[in-house]
Amino acid sequence: MGRAKKRLKHFKRRVKIKGGKRPKKGEAVSALVKKYWVQRYELFSKYDEGIKMDEEGWFSVTPEAIAARQAQRCSGGVVIDGFTGVGGNAIQFASMCHHVIAIDIDPKRVALALENATVYGVEDYIDFVVGDFFQLAQTLKGDKVFLSPPWGGPSYTKEENFTLDLLKPCDGYKLFQVAQTISPNIIMFLPKNIELHQVEELSWLSSPPLDMEIEEHLFNGKSKAVTAYFGDVAFCQ
Ligand code: ADP
Repeated sequence: MGRAKKRLKHFKRRVKIKGGKRPKKGEAVSALVKKYWVQRYELFSKYDEGIKMDEEGWFSVTPEAIAARQAQRCSGGVVIDGFTGVGGNAIQFASMCHHVIAIDIDPKRVALALENATVYGVEDYIDFVVGDFFQLAQTLKGDKVFLSPPWGGPSYTKEENFTLDLLKPCDGYKLFQVAQTISPNIIMFLPKNIELHQVEELSWLSSPPLDMEIEEHLFNGKSKAVTAYFGDVAFCQ
C-alpha cells in the first residue's frame, strides 16, 4: 500500500507542467491542450492581452513567427484567408497587406478570430465571413489566396508521408483548383511530412506551370511545417 502511494506521488510529480506555470483560474485548458498551452506566447505573443482560443485552435493555429513570415513575403494587396480558424494568419496578413477577407465555416471560430484581431488592433483591415470557402470562391476577388485547410488534427504526424488527399474537407488538388479561380498567387500551409512531389504537381495544373517555392519552417532545429508559395509570391523574399 505504502509503495503504491509512493508510485502515485511520483507519477503526479511527472505530469506537472514544466516551469511550474499553470493556466489561470477560469481559463479552460484540457489535458490534451496543456502541451500547447505552454507554447501560448509562440502562438500569440499578445496572448495575455485577451486572446481567445478553443480546443481545436490550440493545435491548429499557425505559430506567430511563421504567420508573420508568410505575411511578410506576401505584403500588399488583398488576401483571401480561406480557412481562418482563430485568426493567427489573418492578423499577420492584416498588418502587412491592404486588406484581408477571412473565411471560416464555423461561426464560433470567426467570432474568436474577430476578438483576437481586436487584441492586435487590426480588425478594421479584415472582413470576417462565415461560410464555406468552396461555395464562396466564385464570388471572391483578391490578389492572393492563403490556404491552411484542416490537416485532420494532431494525428497527421502519424503518416509517414502526408498525401494531398488527406486534407479536409476535400483533397488538395480540388482545393488548389478552386483557389486558382480567384488568383494564381496561392500560399498553402502544409504538414511537415507532406508528399513534396504532389505539391510540385499542383504547379503543373496551370498552363504554363506556375512558379513554385517550398519553405520549411524549423522550430528549435526541428521541422514544424512547410509553406508552398505559387505564382507571383514564389521567390519574392
Ligand atoms: P486541423 O486541426 O485538422 O488542422 P483546423 O482547425 O486547422 O483543422 O481547420 C481549419 C479551419 O478550417 C477550421 O476553423 C474549420 O472550421 C475551417 N473549415 C473547415 N472546412 C471549411 C470550409 N469548407 N470552408 C471554410 N472553412 C472551413
